Amino acid sequence: MSIALTEDQIGLQEMAREFAIKEIAPVITKEREQSGEFPWDLYHKMFEAGYCTMGLPEEYGGLGLSIFEQMLIREQLSQYGDRGFLAGSSSANMSFGPVLNGGTEEQKRYYGDFIRQGKIAAFALTEPESGSDAASIRTTAVRDGDDYILNGTKCFVTSGGLASIYTILATVDRSKGYKGITCFMVERDTPGLSVGKEEDKLGFRMSNTVDLILDNVRVPADHRIGEEGQGFYLAMKNLDRTRPVGAIGAVAIAQAAIDHTVRYTKVRKTFGRPIIENQAVQHILADMQIKTTTGRHLCYNAARLIDEGVVDSELGSITKTFCSDMVMEVTTMAVQLFGGYGYCKDYPVERLFRDAKLFAIFEGANQIQRNVIAKSMMRRIN
Ligand SMILES: Cc1cc2nc3c(=O)[nH]c(=O)nc-3n(C[C@H](O)[C@H](O)[C@H](O)COP(=O)(O)OP(=O)(O)OC[C@H]3O[C@@H](n4cnc5c(N)ncnc54)[C@H](O)[C@@H]3O)c2cc1C
Repeated sequence: MSIALTEDQIGLQEMAREFAIKEIAPVITKEREQSGEFPWDLYHKMFEAGYCTMGLPEEYGGLGLSIFEQMLIREQLSQYGDRGFLAGSSSANMSFGPVLNGGTEEQKRYYGDFIRQGKIAAFALTEPESGSDAASIRTTAVRDGDDYILNGTKCFVTSGGLASIYTILATVDRSKGYKGITCFMVERDTPGLSVGKEEDKLGFRMSNTVDLILDNVRVPADHRIGEEGQGFYLAMKNLDRTRPVGAIGAVAIAQAAIDHTVRYTKVRKTFGRPIIENQAVQHILADMQIKTTTGRHLCYNAARLIDEGVVDSELGSITKTFCSDMVMEVTTMAVQLFGGYGYCKDYPVERLFRDAKLFAIFEGANQIQRNVIAKSMMRRIN
């Protein structure tokens, strides 16, 4: 791969690839993937290896890796393991972010204790009536003495059914829009909090996705992260850093699809010769690689910039949008070149094709990313 890496970084990559091949791939079988049953034993191994919390500071139970190093590892775990399982087992990286950005030292230690013990943490912003328009959430937080009372329903909470602690966004005043949104940490066994239905998804089947119901949930005021009204900023600040990290998963799936397709077209024959000997097929494969390599370099560049302190929302959105559109195109062509077998579950590209679709939807749908890019262009270009 045409990228300069240090020996340590190559070591991180190799360890992650070996873990994915030896530990993840044999467990996430076709049957397990269809059932969606969470493999706790594998989760504990992932946790011991540090892969569930690699982005978190060491003092709170993480590996304290840079964004770029995390990206190198996540790419391997997704390409040779399972991207859905990685999402489900590393949800703490997303949910702990607002606490790290806006919490007190005591709050970080409190939340970090859950992480250190290998418990799962989840992030709950989206609601049934509010996804892309995240500022319009309806879950309320009403001050009552030293507590807040939370009421509402969250949906699509990754790992919500497995988590012991949640980062929950609620509004203290809906009329203020995003300026009313406030962030709380809430323990799983708090009275009034319950887990609702689990989604039966197209892909990412190894990540648990549920509704969360908040019925007069009493949360101590010292579990509020930052000030009232700061929650939206804390959540978005975190997303600006995590978006390129998420996009590398799309690159990994695309590369896995390419590798399977090249191997398959070398052995599958039509009209007396391997399919790959047709130049029309070679050009399709070359286009798949051009797009995937471009996506990889966008991700690496965005990660290195973030590590240098440059968080560029426009570049983050460009990276996310390009990679998620790209992975859909690449996996579609992979299924095409597998022919009828590509449409069947016994062949790997079928799963990759299903997993690919999510990237254009979550962490801000691609249309919303295009809005961000266009607004930034309008500001930037006079
Ligand atoms: C598997 C999975 C895991 C998730 N995990 C989490 C999680 O852990 N925590 C969490 O809080 N959320 C999570 N989400 C929610 C995710 O972030 C939302 O699904 C996403 O933001 C889109 O919101 P929505 O589904 O309500 O779509 P909607 O907002 O209803 O939008 C539907 C579609 O309409 C289009 N659209 C909407 N608005 C515009 C516009 N202004 N301009 C142009 N087009 C537009 C887009 O194509 C969009 O995809 C997850 C979702 C999934 C599917």
